[in-house]
Amino acid sequence: MINILKGTKDVLPQESYKWQKIEHEIEAVTRLYNLHRISTPTFEHTELFLRGVGDTTDIVNKEMYTFEDRGGRSISLKPEGTAGVVRSYIENSLSQLPQPLKMYYETPVFRYERPQAGRLREHHQFGVEIYGADSPAQDVEVMLIAKTLFERLGISGLELRINSIGCPTCRKAYNAALKSYFASRVDELCATCRERLDKNPLRILDCKEEKCGEIAKNAPSVLDYLCEDCRAHHEGVKALLTKLGISYVVDDKIVRGLDYYTKTVFEFVAGGIGAKSTVCGGGRYNGLVEQIGGKPCPAVGFGMGIERLILTMTTIGASFGEEPTPDLFLANIGLPDEAFLLAESLRKEGIAAECDTMGRSLKSQMKLSDKLGAKYVVVIGESEWAAGVVKVKEMKSGEEEECSLANIANYIKEKKA
Ligand code: ATP
Ligand code: MG
Repeated sequence: MINILKGTKDVLPQESYKWQKIEHEIEAVTRLYNLHRISTPTFEHTELFLRGVGDTTDIVNKEMYTFEDRGGRSISLKPEGTAGVVRSYIENSLSQLPQPLKMYYETPVFRYERPQAGRLREHHQFGVEIYGADSPAQDVEVMLIAKTLFERLGISGLELRINSIGCPTCRKAYNAALKSYFASRVDELCATCRERLDKNPLRILDCKEEKCGEIAKNAPSVLDYLCEDCRAHHEGVKALLTKLGISYVVDDKIVRGLDYYTKTVFEFVAGGIGAKSTVCGGGRYNGLVEQIGGKPCPAVGFGMGIERLILTMTTIGASFGEEPTPDLFLANIGLPDEAFLLAESLRKEGIAAECDTMGRSLKSQMKLSDKLGAKYVVVIGESEWAAGVVKVKEMKSGEEEECSLANIANYIKEKKA
């Protein structure tokens, strides 16, 4: 017996309707906000992620699935969704389309993490990427997309936490302040953070070690170091959220796990699913397109973990809707081909018809129909077939009505309406 790899998951047939529910709502929300889908490959040149995600991040340093392909290239499975989209934006000259270019993706993401509830080695993300606009309104629209999806999925009680981590201009002074603060407590930091101290002190704020988190609590606040432009942007975001009546918390310790963010960063956080409570994380990354080789272009987006969405919905008892069941089960007594052909002709008319293909007795066909949750059942025997009239039984009420074979599709459609 070969088992599934640690940290990966099957989506089984009996639970896939939950994924379909989420995909359905994603489709509706992305339509409302005029987002167009973009799909990029599962693997890319490793170099893209080194440059795009940042070589001082955990994701690139410790978590990436990197291998050499048979042609000797260094390849990595995507550890996040943004870098590939940026590459595609540049490579396909998407800046020539009307801007802002509003895109979304749904993709598997691979990270070699320590598997636990809500933390997988392959997970899936719904992400939004909007390129070309630098306004606070664009940041807020991105937050609204996530929020609207949560609402449509019946998820309430998520907290929106926002911060600004400034731009390269203000980051210099802030980095210096962070360095001198953490340098005074360097002996208490974990080994990784001691390395980060020189290279990228901002990363220390994102460390998952308890001790480092303790120390980070009293670190200087990035909000005290914002330049005029970044401060005005941050105030603009807050003012719009207030106008919309959306509650939020400013959390000056949010930096996100990727190096590319500038100005706005945000998270939607749930209580109750342990430490892994961030369902959605995003922000602005105005320097990224240029860093990957394109012309400077402002960008903002988020990534949302589908598995964590499902976990959150399950925890709070949100509904995934009903698992779809057949409209009609056509049971047969000695007429399997007739039932099979009739089922197919009903499907052509939009009826989800099911029949036996395993030579079951009538009794076990009825049991099967029950297990499948078919809404109506028809039994076709020699006499029904000859007369062209059957009894249609509604399973919930047990009521039976006669119906001509030719009229079954209309009968079910009327009942469904
Ligand atoms: P965390 O702080 O939980 O490690 P992150 O900052 O690494 O999250 P992002 O890189 O921003 O997360 O990814 C966006 C979203 O993808 C997260 O908010 C989360 O919902 C989901 N996610 C991230 N890593 C995993 C994982 N290993 N397993 C399942 N979902 C994940
Ligand atoms: Mg992480």
